[in-house]
Amino acid sequence: MLDVAGFRRALLRWYERQKRDLPWRRTDDPYRIWVSEIMLQQTRVAAVIPYYERFLERFPKVEDLAEAPEAELLRAWAGLGYYSRARNLQKAAREIVSQGGFPREYEAIRALPGIGDYTAAAVGSIAFGLPVAVLDGNVMRVLARIDNDAADIQAPVTRGRLRERAQELLSVRHPAAFNQAMMELGATICLPKNPQCLLCPVNGNCRAAAAGTANQLPVKGRKAAIQRVSRTLLWVERVEEGVHQVLARLVKGFWELPDAEAVVNAEWTQRVGHFSHAIMNTVYRFEVVRASAFLMPEGYEWVTLGRQVGSPLSTVTRKAQRLFSRP
Ligand code: SF4
Repeated sequence: MLDVAGFRRALLRWYERQKRDLPWRRTDDPYRIWVSEIMLQQTRVAAVIPYYERFLERFPKVEDLAEAPEAELLRAWAGLGYYSRARNLQKAAREIVSQGGFPREYEAIRALPGIGDYTAAAVGSIAFGLPVAVLDGNVMRVLARIDNDAADIQAPVTRGRLRERAQELLSVRHPAAFNQAMMELGATICLPKNPQCLLCPVNGNCRAAAAGTANQLPVKGRKAAIQRVSRTLLWVERVEEGVHQVLARLVKGFWELPDAEAVVNAEWTQRVGHFSHAIMNTVYRFEVVRASAFLMPEGYEWVTLGRQVGSPLSTVTRKAQRLFSRP
């Protein structure tokens, strides 16, 4: 039987002493906490910090974000990837402004665009002290090990059980610290490989540590197979009054180079190189070829690199451009 009170006490004491000093832990502004949580989805803490600071310098208040032109928003987000996060952030900012402020109830936070169970629980508990447990990959791993639970954590029924378990363990007096402590434990001590059980504050309450099974947990179902796709991009350039321009078109707010099939009668003049780019379970291999085009393909324009009007280059276009600067 888990000593719940002892578990909470040990975890909270450890967190108070050992927590990392992160910029979003120095504020209780729900807007700033929410921005950090959205950025931290799919992106590592160390990578997020400079983006977070620049983003809040540019959009210090939710009103600034709500009013920003989309191109400027995407430029501030460029490099973080998963741009639907940025677009949803702005949609939600507009709703927050029209509601007259950040909602304070879990259901109302959860109803904002781009906010799921995890983000609503994180923002609600950290900014407003709502007693709702967070459940992310780190927390699921800690819980599966604490209970020595070998069920598949990708199965909905297991997730449901872990969600209930997280809620049972939550300190309702200190939900903000408790939730952050669980995530911090998963991120720094209860690591996916080689958990640091000897340094762990809840070692005495962990059934996997006692059974020697920590390294085998949690159990995850089969991973989706990786798909590999090859594509060829054309680098069609012209010099107009001494200025270099390439053929590109706007796709969801970003300048993209043409696919080989998009330019009829293109003449390939030189293979420039190749690079890889992964999106979800698909790994693309892009070959970049210099070409000249006899017909202007529909939807494309001449874009001046470095001074492209309004919208930023897509990550793929920037990777292609970097091939030209390699020695
Ligand atoms: S004792 Fe080990 S397995 Fe258990 S929670 Fe701590 S780090 Fe994780």
